[in-house]
Amino acid sequence: MEYDIVIIGGGQAGLSFAASLMDTSLSIAVIEKRELSLLSEPKPDGREIALTHLSVDILKKLAVWQLIPEEVICPLKEARVFDGESSSYLDFTSQNKEKNELGYLIPNYKICHALYQRVSTADNVELLTQQSVADVTRQADYSTIHLENGDTITTKLVIAADSRFSTIRKKMGIPALMQDFSKVMIVAQMDHQQSHQNIALECFHYERTLALLPMVGNSSSVVITVATDKVDAVMKQDEAAFNQDMTQAFRGELGEMTLQGERHCYPLMGVYSQQLVSHRFALIGDAAVGMHPVTAQGANLGLRGQDILAAEIKKSVRRGTDIGSLAVLKGYERKQINMNRMMYFGTNGVVALFTNDTPMAKKIRKTLLAVVKHFPPVKHLISHHLTNTSSGIRKFLPF
Ligand SMILES: Cc1cc2nc3c(=O)[nH]c(=O)nc-3n(C[C@H](O)[C@H](O)[C@H](O)COP(=O)(O)OP(=O)(O)OC[C@H]3O[C@@H](n4cnc5c(N)ncnc54)[C@H](O)[C@@H]3O)c2cc1C
Repeated sequence: MEYDIVIIGGGQAGLSFAASLMDTSLSIAVIEKRELSLLSEPKPDGREIALTHLSVDILKKLAVWQLIPEEVICPLKEARVFDGESSSYLDFTSQNKEKNELGYLIPNYKICHALYQRVSTADNVELLTQQSVADVTRQADYSTIHLENGDTITTKLVIAADSRFSTIRKKMGIPALMQDFSKVMIVAQMDHQQSHQNIALECFHYERTLALLPMVGNSSSVVITVATDKVDAVMKQDEAAFNQDMTQAFRGELGEMTLQGERHCYPLMGVYSQQLVSHRFALIGDAAVGMHPVTAQGANLGLRGQDILAAEIKKSVRRGTDIGSLAVLKGYERKQINMNRMMYFGTNGVVALFTNDTPMAKKIRKTLLAVVKHFPPVKHLISHHLTNTSSGIRKFLPF
């Protein structure tokens, strides 16, 4: 088998990259270890993805946004950050005159479903499911992918989109920093009596962090971050007790809260790849940067990165140059790695400060929140980042 480009991993990053290249004459294979039915009919996984305006524009360009049912898209009007038990908060609203929303919340499986629907119509993209990659070897003019079943595929360019735990990144010798936060994020959909008014809440209480992400109707995604040893207590908590705990945790402001469906849990592990490309190879999505979800940037960075890489490849095709050459791939790395670095270390800084219960850390974050609150330019810059549609780098933290 031979393809111009082989993408390893059919998650959000891999499928969006394949969709970005649908309008080219390049032959593309997506290798995915899961079975086809899990791609064609993905199941709810509890993740509500907050998409920025830039991400929405990219999905519109790919004709994927149009495939997401309108009734699952929840506009986000405001985000409020609370510290400790204080009832005062820092709020962020849209600073863009043309856009009233900060962004949009959409269930992850609906985005994945729309991506699959789009890619499955492509003439130049083949989905090879239930296939796993055992190894990749590189020669000067091509690379060879060795599948677990013994088959081989040759290609000009290998793209690893195989998650933050990317085995391909390791095989290709690309160094990555990894941070085990020793925390777990538990997510659950809950219905409530009062309206959330399209406001997201991030409550850095001591011991556990709580967030509430608005969904369509009187429903929200509740996000609870706890130390690893406390996970079972939350996951196995009796449903009535869980409902009562959450109703009280949000001070009854949404009325009674009722669990809908399962609780899902995600161990928190951050990954920062120190380079994004090498000979005939590039990393995208979480394989390039696996973010702590608190700043809701992982999927957004993945969409931005694949968009830049696709543009560099299309430029190379127009010029008749080798799409797998380092010169072409470096164009992508130059435009994406600084953004990855800023977001990754900025987010980890926020996590370190806001989940640290020492008196000094509490004092610093109170001061920081007060500075942001009483110094409007900083607040405006953060809100502007969320509503901005350009992919340029801004020198501040979005949370
Ligand atoms: C609780 C939670 C909330 C989040 N909220 C947000 C948010 O609000 N906003 C935001 O922007 N991001 C958010 N994220 C992050 C976002 O979900 C991820 O960044 C995104 O889904 C990563 O997509 P990916 O395709 O890179 O990786 P994945 O979704 O991990 O996909 C990797 C794919 O590769 C396949 N694979 C792996 N190894 C191989 C192999 N050897 N061979 C073949 N296939 C392989 C896997 O089966 C999988 O399908 C959140 C994450 C979590 C956990």
